[in-house]
Amino acid sequence: MQQIHTSVSIEGMARGTAFFPDRSPECRGGTLSWDEAFAAEKERLGRLAENAADEMKAIFTAHLEMLEDPMLQETVQAHLQEGLGLPQAIDAAADQLAALFHEIDDEYLRARADDIRDVCRGLRRQVEGATPNPFAGMPKDAVIVSEELFPSDTAEMDFSRVRAFVLRRGSRTSHVCIIARSKGIPVLLGIDIDAICAGDPLLIDGAAGELTVWPTPEEEAAFLSRMEQSASETALQLTGPDGNPVRIEGNAGSLEDIPPVLQAGAEGIGLLRTEFIFMESDHLPSDEEQLAIYREAARLCNGKTLTIRTLDIGGDKSLPYLALPVEDNPFLGLRALRYCLRHEEVFKPQLRAILRAGADGAVRIMFPMVTSPEELREAKALLIRCRDELRAEGLPCADTVPAGIMIETPAAVLMAPELAQEAAFFSIGTNDLTQYIMAADRGNPAVAYLNDPMAEAVLRAIGMTVQAAHAAGIPVCICGEMASHPAARLRLAALGVDSISLSSPKTIGQLTHS
Ligand code: PEP
Ligand code: MG
Repeated sequence: MQQIHTSVSIEGMARGTAFFPDRSPECRGGTLSWDEAFAAEKERLGRLAENAADEMKAIFTAHLEMLEDPMLQETVQAHLQEGLGLPQAIDAAADQLAALFHEIDDEYLRARADDIRDVCRGLRRQVEGATPNPFAGMPKDAVIVSEELFPSDTAEMDFSRVRAFVLRRGSRTSHVCIIARSKGIPVLLGIDIDAICAGDPLLIDGAAGELTVWPTPEEEAAFLSRMEQSASETALQLTGPDGNPVRIEGNAGSLEDIPPVLQAGAEGIGLLRTEFIFMESDHLPSDEEQLAIYREAARLCNGKTLTIRTLDIGGDKSLPYLALPVEDNPFLGLRALRYCLRHEEVFKPQLRAILRAGADGAVRIMFPMVTSPEELREAKALLIRCRDELRAEGLPCADTVPAGIMIETPAAVLMAPELAQEAAFFSIGTNDLTQYIMAADRGNPAVAYLNDPMAEAVLRAIGMTVQAAHAAGIPVCICGEMASHPAARLRLAALGVDSISLSSPKTIGQLTHS
């Protein structure tokens, strides 16, 4: 037995067998020419794009465009002329083009480096005559062990067989990790995978960031009893200090996310992250386009509350069509509400669409990354201006929608008593609150040990926020990932939060059916 630790992981416990997709016997085949491999990969990506929903559809469509971009073929040809074999020429082209993306001074385009590597990897697999699906031979309790995983991998995986991901590279906020979290799959990142062989029995404790290879019977027994305890903690009904149950709500990033969390038992949508809707579009969505989406979201909620968070762009999220300014410290820059207040041409269509969707749905609005009461006042004033304009235009809209704020900055915690006088509710974004309180970038593995929402400083900030909210008679939700951890949930309940909003339908189901 051998234990390996990491500070970058996604919680959850699992037991399974190491499976290396790239070393699977299914992966070995003959050799294809460039034209054959190109045609086969084009067919595969086209099929994936056709069958995928929403965000994944956009990803595969973008991959298809990258594949067909003559620059890729020209780069591969140039390396072939240097004397490289076809697989090596594709690898070299991947490195060269990914490096070009990396140099771009735009977070969004930099992230496209992963996409070009994903496309080239697909091509290389085709050249080697590998099966189009390297996950085809997966055992039924597979722990996927790999250098890294890409979105296209998850489209081809049979998740009923996957117990965990163990990866050398990747960050907690990567696409693959977001998908893993929504499926309740633990992930360990930054692992030296050379220490693992195909078929090794593995134990994964995501919360502890611990991997055990070839566990002894004693280790296995101790692990299984911790697993049971964690499951019963998960199922514990959460009760606040007043004896009232904590409400369970769901997080969503798209329309597709809404039915699973509601069917699992969520009492409403505590956070609809609208930036993903903007990211799926290649232009700024008009108020009519947004209205159609928010109306459909409200219809899916069927009378349950829908909390629409206004655009949280900036930081690590960019939109190609908005030409965001280049900043030295984007997380401390013109992000979220700050950006929207500066850009009414972006903000007003969204406020109008939310007010119009509020005419016939239980819609609330939530402003992200507030730092002062003045910002909240400004946003609310603009909301009223939008309502008056809609009325003047004769368009049906809500008289008002409850306007709440996210508590994500230390300033908002310190100003919570004043903010609570003007906000209809608070929702604590512990992902950001933790990074700003601990001064530890949420995406930087080197400071992941500091990025801990259970740190005393963060817990005190949450306690102060709850006290200020309750003194003013408004409710507090937690919509950050912290609430997905059983031990954290018990602390949050004890601190008096009124609701938690979770991404995982599985956890919501466990909590609401206990
Ligand atoms: C948070 O910061 O906790 C949050 C829910 O918002 P996001 O993760 O989208 O920044
Ligand atoms: Mg946030």
